[in-house]
Amino acid sequence: MSKVAVIGAGVMGLACAHELLKQGHEVDIYEADDRIGGMAAHFDFAGLNIERYYHFICKPDESLFQLLKELGIDDKLRWTDTRMGYYFEGRMHEWGNPVALLKFPGVGLISKLRYGLHAFISTRINNWQALDEQEASVWIRRWIGRRAYEVFWERLFALKFFEYKDNLSAAWIWSRIKRVGVSRKSLMQEQMGYLEGGSQTLLDEFEKVIKQRGGRFHLKTVVKQVGVKNQAVDVLRTDNDSQHYDAVFSTIPLPFVADMIPDLPDEDKQKYRSIKNMGVVCVIFQMKKPVTDNFWLNISDESIDIPGIIEFSNLRPLGAHVVYVPYYMPQTHAKHEMSNDAFIAEARAYIKKLNPDLADDDFTHAHVSRYGFAQPICPPGFLKNLPPMNSSINGLYIADTSYYYPEDRSISESVRLGREMATMLDGSAAP
Ligand SMILES: Cc1cc2nc3c(=O)[nH]c(=O)nc-3n(C[C@H](O)[C@H](O)[C@H](O)COP(=O)(O)OP(=O)(O)OC[C@H]3O[C@@H](n4cnc5c(N)ncnc54)[C@H](O)[C@@H]3O)c2cc1C
Repeated sequence: MSKVAVIGAGVMGLACAHELLKQGHEVDIYEADDRIGGMAAHFDFAGLNIERYYHFICKPDESLFQLLKELGIDDKLRWTDTRMGYYFEGRMHEWGNPVALLKFPGVGLISKLRYGLHAFISTRINNWQALDEQEASVWIRRWIGRRAYEVFWERLFALKFFEYKDNLSAAWIWSRIKRVGVSRKSLMQEQMGYLEGGSQTLLDEFEKVIKQRGGRFHLKTVVKQVGVKNQAVDVLRTDNDSQHYDAVFSTIPLPFVADMIPDLPDEDKQKYRSIKNMGVVCVIFQMKKPVTDNFWLNISDESIDIPGIIEFSNLRPLGAHVVYVPYYMPQTHAKHEMSNDAFIAEARAYIKKLNPDLADDDFTHAHVSRYGFAQPICPPGFLKNLPPMNSSINGLYIADTSYYYPEDRSISESVRLGREMATMLDGSAAP
């Protein structure tokens, strides 16, 4: 039995800690925030307990399904027939099925057929390595042509990835297309999942079983440093304490790692520092009326600087209409400095443009959540530039959402990776 510390109580840290406890280790979990959950955490939104950031579940989220079963909460999983829309150049269109594609304006039939074929083929590709070294915009343009790329992808990439938009891994973009593309009941009907009670249902159960097995949570406790002796993990330092551990698992965003563990080799520290992350400023509204009947609305309109909105209450019934308006941007972007009130005002104006029947008093509550590490930016060949999770220091394991590559960030992938990391301690899994 080893004395182990897990840094970060997001889903990855919780999954890792749970697994380590099952193996019989003594586990302390350190979390900087005042609550567990990380990106999946909830907050009190004027009496509504809801995620800071929207979360939907897709059909291929196998690691999550296994965990729900193991925790005995698989009966909380629900599926909804969801709709998608597309606001294109001032008008609302249906989206997300072959008929909607054929009816879409501004793109010729051949381009539409090429777009549809690309989407279909993406759901059939299994070998991501073939796409690993390819650049995403080049790969997509080759399949669908210049015009369809301009209409369907160019603005989306610009508003989601900014200066990184022309240096993204095709494998990484493909995995997103596939995850959503196969989450369907039929060719015509998309289906997305959610947990009754939201991500909090999973977090509550994690907290319960981790405590039952003797795990200890240290909330509002920032890990300042992991000290090393004789090339092995030695001591973990916080503002108020210093404890010896036999092993340490870090699940915090990689850009923090180099400063937290100064004894790592310079080459590895350089690699951690070089990973770019996209931040998010996420406005959320409670409303008296729905904006649309879509769960997901793509937007391509010169006067609206966001790629889409997520009308969450069209996925999960909440007793109120709830809309998330995510602004993805690097933390270095000038707009990042804007106040929360300014973001709320802009997002409200966008929504009123999408649905001109809405008035100011239809927006009953607003809130803004911000996170600097909403997702890593993955250029071609991303994975081979990451140091191994099983670090060169004995007893030190390091990962964050970057290690899902080519998969996009998801709760399910954090579950998979957190568990995989934990099995490295007794050598039962390969790094
Ligand atoms: C806008 C948005 C939308 C999303 N939509 C979906 C979706 O629809 N479906 C889906 O499945 N997933 C979605 N995700 C992704 C999902 O939330 C993440 O993949 C998952 O929650 C990541 O968990 P994690 O534990 O790996 O990382 P994190 O949640 O980032 O956890 C890391 C934790 O480390 C803590 N920490 C940092 N530094 C320190 C320190 N020095 N000491 C102690 N603690 C520290 C942080 O406070 C944080 O709690 C979304 C995420 C965002 C931001």
